[in-house]
Amino acid sequence: MSLGVAARTMRRVLVPASVDHAPPPLGGRVHAFSGRTMGTSWSVRLVASARLPRHHVLPAIQGALDEVVDQMSTWEAGADLRRFNRAAPATWQALPDSFFEVLACARDVAEQSAGAFDPTAGALVDAWGFGPAAPRGAPDDAVVLRALAQAGWRRLELDTARRAAHQPGGLALDLSAIAKGFGVDLVARRLDALGIESHLVEIGGELRGSGVKPDGQPWWVQLEHPDQAADEPETLLALHGLSVATSGDYRRWFEHDGTRVSHTIDPRDGLPIRHGLASVTVLHPQCMLADAWSTALNVLGPVDGPALANRLGLAARFIVRDGLHFEERRSAAFEKLLH
Ligand code: ADP
Ligand code: MG
Repeated sequence: MSLGVAARTMRRVLVPASVDHAPPPLGGRVHAFSGRTMGTSWSVRLVASARLPRHHVLPAIQGALDEVVDQMSTWEAGADLRRFNRAAPATWQALPDSFFEVLACARDVAEQSAGAFDPTAGALVDAWGFGPAAPRGAPDDAVVLRALAQAGWRRLELDTARRAAHQPGGLALDLSAIAKGFGVDLVARRLDALGIESHLVEIGGELRGSGVKPDGQPWWVQLEHPDQAADEPETLLALHGLSVATSGDYRRWFEHDGTRVSHTIDPRDGLPIRHGLASVTVLHPQCMLADAWSTALNVLGPVDGPALANRLGLAARFIVRDGLHFEERRSAAFEKLLH
C-alpha cells in the first residue's frame, strides 16, 4: 500500500507493519460523533455506508462511556469504585466485569513498574487536591504520610475466579490514569460488535485506530509536542490496530511556590512528580495499556522510564525538559516504528 504522506519532508512517520496487510477499502464514508465524558471530550470517526442509522450507533458508544463512569469514576458518588472505597474493612467486594478487568490490568502495571503506577493512590490524589475531595493546594506532611500509609498496590488482593477485590480498610482506588484508555477500548469493542471495523476512537486525547478510511489510507494522527514552536519535525502516526496515549505535566498542574505541581503523583514517596519530563507518549495495541504505561513511565522519569520501556519492549517517546529546550528520547520499540 502506498502511503503518500511519508514522502513529505520535515515529517517523521510511524507505521505499524500491520498496514501492509490491510484489507482493501470497503467504500462507504466517514461518519463523526462527539460528546463529553469523564471530565473531558470524546470523539469517534467511523467508516460505514452513507445510510448508517446513527440512532443505532450513538447508544452503543454512549453505553460504553456510561459503563466506565458508572463503574470506575472517583467523581460519581454512586460509582462501584466509590462503593469499594467506602466498604467496611476486611471485606471482599464483588466487582462488575469491566471494573475488575481494569483493576487487574492496573495491578499488573503496578507490579511491573514497582509501584510507579498505583491504582490504590486515591488518598494521595485527594491529599494533593486532584480528586473530588479537597481544593488544590500543597498539603501538610502529616496528611501526605497518612495518605501514603493508606495506599499501596500490595494491599490490593484480587480473586479472579469470583471477580472480587479485598478491601483491607481505608484502601482508596483511583483508576483515572487508566479508565480513559479502557473507555476507548470498550467503545472500539462495541463498534466491532456492530460490524463497524474501521474506526478512530478518542477520549481526552487518548486514541485507538482500526482499519482504513474509504480512500484506503489508515487513520493518521499527529503526535503533539509540548513546544508548538519547536524546530522539531512533526511526527505522524498511522493508527492501524494501534493506540496512543500521552501523560504530561504541561496539561494539568497548579503553581505552588513558583513551581509546577503535577497531577501525577509518585506513589513511592507520596509527592507530585518533579523531574524534567514534559511528556511521555506510549503506543500499544490496547489503549488501556498505552494509558497506564504513559503515566507509569512518566513517574519513573527521564532515566528509569526509558530503561524500563526498553526492558519491557514498550514503544515510548519521552520529551525531556532541558532548560528552555526540549529533548526527545525514544525507546527501541518506538524507534522501530519510525520510517
Ligand atoms: P495524564 O494524562 O497526565 O496521564 P491521566 O488522566 O492519565 O493523566 O491520569 C492522571 C490521574 O491519575 C490523576 O489525576 C490521578 O487521579 C491519578 N494518578 C496520579 N498519579 C498516579 C499514579 N502514579 N498511578 C496511578 N494513578 C495516578
Ligand atoms: Mg495515563
